[in-house]
Amino acid sequence: MLISKKIRLEVSDQDAATLEFMQGKCRGLYNWWVMRLRDGERWPGWEEAKKTLQQSKQHDPELCFVYGKLLQEVYFRLDGAMKAFFRRVKNGEKPGFPRVRPRHNFFTLIYPAMYIQVEGLSIRLPTGGKGKNKRFPDVVAKLTEEAPTGYRDVAISRDGQGHYYASFVHDEEEETHEHDGVLAIDLGVKTLATGVNEQGRFYHIGGFKGSRWYNRQLDKIRSKRDKCKKKSRRYKHLSQVYKRVSQQKRNKQHDSLHKASHLIAHKTVERTIVIGDLSQRQMVMKDHRERNKYLNRAVFNDWGLYTFIQMLAYKCVLYGKELVILDERDTSKTCSGCGHKQNMPLWKRTYRCPNIECRLVIDRDENSAINILKRYLARLGPHTGDPVRCADVFTATEMC
Ligand SMILES: [Zn+2]
Repeated sequence: MLISKKIRLEVSDQDAATLEFMQGKCRGLYNWWVMRLRDGERWPGWEEAKKTLQQSKQHDPELCFVYGKLLQEVYFRLDGAMKAFFRRVKNGEKPGFPRVRPRHNFFTLIYPAMYIQVEGLSIRLPTGGKGKNKRFPDVVAKLTEEAPTGYRDVAISRDGQGHYYASFVHDEEEETHEHDGVLAIDLGVKTLATGVNEQGRFYHIGGFKGSRWYNRQLDKIRSKRDKCKKKSRRYKHLSQVYKRVSQQKRNKQHDSLHKASHLIAHKTVERTIVIGDLSQRQMVMKDHRERNKYLNRAVFNDWGLYTFIQMLAYKCVLYGKELVILDERDTSKTCSGCGHKQNMPLWKRTYRCPNIECRLVIDRDENSAINILKRYLARLGPHTGDPVRCADVFTATEMC
């Protein structure tokens, strides 16, 4: 797995200007290609494209002042973007053709590790040209933290406040095997996902909260529209507004699902992700909705959990994790401490165990997450499902 460490850089004004110049030129080259591709030119692959660099330099002699490896990296990035585009087309997803990079964003500069010198807290980033042809001296910046060892690439970026950063990208395969843990996740109605690992640490990931607000707006627009004469100009206009706003809502929902699944699939150290099987639950929810139809009350959030699982599935493949889908029947009804069962309607947010010897009081979603974890570990059998670690989970929860 690739892991990156981002470290703030202290850069002199002159060096900042050099970095700005180089990123501007790299972006120019990138955008020039994107526009040509958009006009129907075939992408020749990075090897062929790289050969055109000389021509581009004749066209724009200032490219000579940019470090050559940075320019080559532009072709790799284009190649990656085009490949991703074709993959999406093939899978029948929204294609999303590579975009022109806007001027106000810093075009990340990627240096291969071997061309960068790090000595203590000082980092030297080369620029283009030699001798008389070197307009900008090499950038020497100060790292605010010590750089990690064994990195492959270093990406230089700038944030909105104008701070510069160096991200050291390194492979961490061995280490991820050390953290060979399990993260069990309960997908809920109030919080999108509640996770627990074998050390008893909880993760809470909220979903998109604006659904209700959007629904209210959409209702307003629709009722306004319905008062108009059909096919009148105002009617058409309001229909358009309605379409736009509902698209906006969908986009936001989708975005939050992407972020949450990325968080789970990429940012956590556990190698196995366990979630409950939703097919049973969707039915229950539908039933629930039918019964509450006349109450006109949102009892649960429609996150689009099915989409979420699909995202999680492909992201887990992408980041080398295993996704296990488990039968989640009774996981919210059962007490995670003693195994007692009680009915848990959706509005009950806290699990209170009536068993006198147990008396566990715990958040509903956390309780289900522990049950999912327990079920998974039990399925693994006595050899791998370490009972000691299991016990840790329960003491940890009782303390909270
Ligand atoms: Zn109990």
